Amino acid sequence: MTRPTEATRAALFRRLPAVDELLRLPEVAGLSEREGHAAVADSARAVLEEVRRAIAAGTLDDAGVDLAVAGLSAALERHLRASLRYSLRPVINATGVVLHTNLGRAPLSREALAHAAEVACGYSNLEYDLETGERGERDTHAQRLLAGLLELGTHATTLVVNNNAAAVLLALNSLAEGGEVVVSRGELVEIGGSFRIPDVMAKSGAILREVGTTNRTRISDYEQAITDRTRLLLRVHRSNFQITGFTEQPSLQQLVDLGRARQLPVMEDLGSGALFDLASVGVSGEPGVAESLRTGADVVTYSGDKLLGGPQAGLLSGQRELITRIRKNPLFRALRVDKLTYAALEATLLAYVRRDGSVPVLRMLRLSRQEIGERARGLQSKLRDVANLAIEIEQGESMIGGGAAPAATLPTVLLALTRAGRSADQLARALRQWEPPVIARVEDERVLLDLRTVFPEQDSALADALRQAAGTS
Ligand SMILES: *Cc1c(COP(=O)(O)O)cnc(C)c1O
Repeated sequence: MTRPTEATRAALFRRLPAVDELLRLPEVAGLSEREGHAAVADSARAVLEEVRRAIAAGTLDDAGVDLAVAGLSAALERHLRASLRYSLRPVINATGVVLHTNLGRAPLSREALAHAAEVACGYSNLEYDLETGERGERDTHAQRLLAGLLELGTHATTLVVNNNAAAVLLALNSLAEGGEVVVSRGELVEIGGSFRIPDVMAKSGAILREVGTTNRTRISDYEQAITDRTRLLLRVHRSNFQITGFTEQPSLQQLVDLGRARQLPVMEDLGSGALFDLASVGVSGEPGVAESLRTGADVVTYSGDKLLGGPQAGLLSGQRELITRIRKNPLFRALRVDKLTYAALEATLLAYVRRDGSVPVLRMLRLSRQEIGERARGLQSKLRDVANLAIEIEQGESMIGGGAAPAATLPTVLLALTRAGRSADQLARALRQWEPPVIARVEDERVLLDLRTVFPEQDSALADALRQAAGTS
């Protein structure tokens, strides 16, 4: 193609319809009726501008402009669909990672969502005491239920902030600013790529006093590090890695005894913080929040959207005197959560009180290999007629994820897919492009699907996605 001259370019521009002409086309007028005139007009201007730019750049000749003009209403509709579509959308999580940080961690229960919707669509008693008719505190909405669930008694209570990173920052700043915090070198962890204990410590204004070595820290190491500048003994859960072999770490009990003897508070950053017994899903050696408090930790910090299965939040449970000091820190005002979070958290906690099995994370963790296998075989036979798609069923492991129990996996059944003539990456890509997108694992040139994290009501949407991906990928 030769580059058009100024004169031919001007002629090409004249072949383009005006925005109004484009809007009067019957199919475009129909779109305006459904989606509103303003949005359709915006898309009309955008697609015309795109063709104009192509003409100006000399990338469209006579025939090219004809094609572009003929395709204007279709291009307009595509543009409109893309611009009116949500960026944040639901996906089907077929990875088997229950707490997948990139996929939004804990899915909320219908009850939590319904309560949040009811509270958020109108006014609420967020900070209003209905008894006295006076100002109340938002904290009460989570404190009541957690007091019972954690058997806190009157000497302890709970505070809610934006996430667990905020909880740790707030606690360190409130309890140890300007002083020293003793931590084992083996616990100076990075979680989720951006939460590093030394960095959070520095921002809190507390001074990190590292003790021991990466693999071995003894209680005597903590003891020797205590000076009159020490404000806190900190223990951090190794959420996403394990140190095995020649290791030593004092028990929480030893740390608590030392704290008592030297009159120093002990804080445990649990991270995942289960409100149920993890042994009930086959994961051993992981302390829950209640256990840590029973052992004597003065403050325990944990996430709302990890094993607790609720909304994003950070919870601080512990000695009332310390929690009250933390509550008085002006930073709390910057880190507190809104009514949506309180509503979703309260509904999630109520599900624990009722033991009604409505917390999705718990339901997924409790699915047996057999239950998952039955659904997997159902899907396999449903898709037997799809040409090009080979589906095998095999045993595998699901991961809890979310920085919980690093070595813990749950037995599951996997669907292993291969599509004749296409790579596993191509098939996985086609699945991501379906609506709703399906996110799967790719391993050894196969696409692996784990139904543990697929809601049963999504099984048929998943089957549709697989049919389509097998056809077009
Ligand atoms: C996940 C985690 C955090 C960070 O919690 P967020 O809720 O993601 O802010 C901090 N500490 C530990 C030990 C964790 O596992």
